[in-house]
Amino acid sequence: SLTLGIVGLPNVGKSTLFNALTKNDVLAANYPFATIEPNVGVVPLPDPRLGKLAEVFGSEKLVPALVSFVDIAGIVKGASEGAGLGNKFLANIREADAICQVVRVFADDDVVHVDGRVDPSADIEVIETELAIADLQTLEKAIPRVEKEARIKKDRKPALDAALAAQAVLNEGKTLFSQKNKLDFELLKEFQLLTTKPFLYVFNADEGVLTDDVKVGELARSVAPADAVFLDAKIESELLELDAESAAELLESVGQTEPGLDALARAGFHTLGLQTYLTAGPKEARAWTIHKGDTAPQAAGVIHTDFERGFIKAEIVSFDDLVEAGSMASAKAAGKVRIEGKDYVMVDGDVVEFRFNV
Ligand code: GDP
Repeated sequence: SLTLGIVGLPNVGKSTLFNALTKNDVLAANYPFATIEPNVGVVPLPDPRLGKLAEVFGSEKLVPALVSFVDIAGIVKGASEGAGLGNKFLANIREADAICQVVRVFADDDVVHVDGRVDPSADIEVIETELAIADLQTLEKAIPRVEKEARIKKDRKPALDAALAAQAVLNEGKTLFSQKNKLDFELLKEFQLLTTKPFLYVFNADEGVLTDDVKVGELARSVAPADAVFLDAKIESELLELDAESAAELLESVGQTEPGLDALARAGFHTLGLQTYLTAGPKEARAWTIHKGDTAPQAAGVIHTDFERGFIKAEIVSFDDLVEAGSMASAKAAGKVRIEGKDYVMVDGDVVEFRFNV
């Protein structure tokens, strides 16, 4: 499954956030046989539709989609030169599908900042410069080789052009992701660059910032079009130990209406380019994770590979139509249940029953 790699300067709250991610028991509850790496934390994707579906179908339990985060050891200036953790660190980032950057915004004199001041933009620049340098090194090695190839084989010329364009962007101090519309990411794939990965920013803030809409707006704009999440990592960890009522009170006291981990799950899901479809029956109401643009057979394959191979058709009703009708039978009677074939592209919130040969 797809993962977001957590990076950030030392002392910004990565471990605190990661502990909160591993504290929730969603995995044990729904996936009793899943083995999970110690450096992976999962959060359920909040989905109010599941509760409604469970009412319609009388489902015993709700199984939400999950978003996975990998804890990657702290980046330090010079990581790209292979100092200390450097190479292992970069290899870990290469394996992640997106980069989740934790940025310190909280002020706390007891927690030392590596550069002696709290400055989110400067911190982001330190991390991104390191990643950009690593990409430049990759390209410096690759370009002479691709140049040679392009002299012999014409069809290597586009890859060379793509690499040179990427190099120019990196030399301006920009990440490749931030210039996505100017670059050919398909052609760049073979170079396995780090900064082509989608970025997500987690601003680890305190109450003063969380309740300051102007400041929040500024920070969010500074990283747009990437998603930004604002939370207090320390409080997120505490929330998981409280009952619902006390948790709501604590959140309210820092001006929040929902746990930051909920917002983080949604943003992570979005950053990874994922969406869900829904199934429901007496046993469970469940959200399944697919990529945006997946077809009905690909969606079926997420439940079981046999479902994809033996796919015949899908019976689909949109969540809103189903809830309005009140039951599957009424939705059918109202002509709201569609039969879709193998070319159908799934829409978020489709409630599905697959027909297949085994
Ligand atoms: P890491 O080095 O990025 O993994 O940072 P840690 O999670 O170990 O946090 C460093 C220190 O900052 C610890 O003492 C945390 O308790 C503290 N810390 C983390 N998040 C917050 C926060 O939101 N507010 C405050 N005041 N302290 C925090």
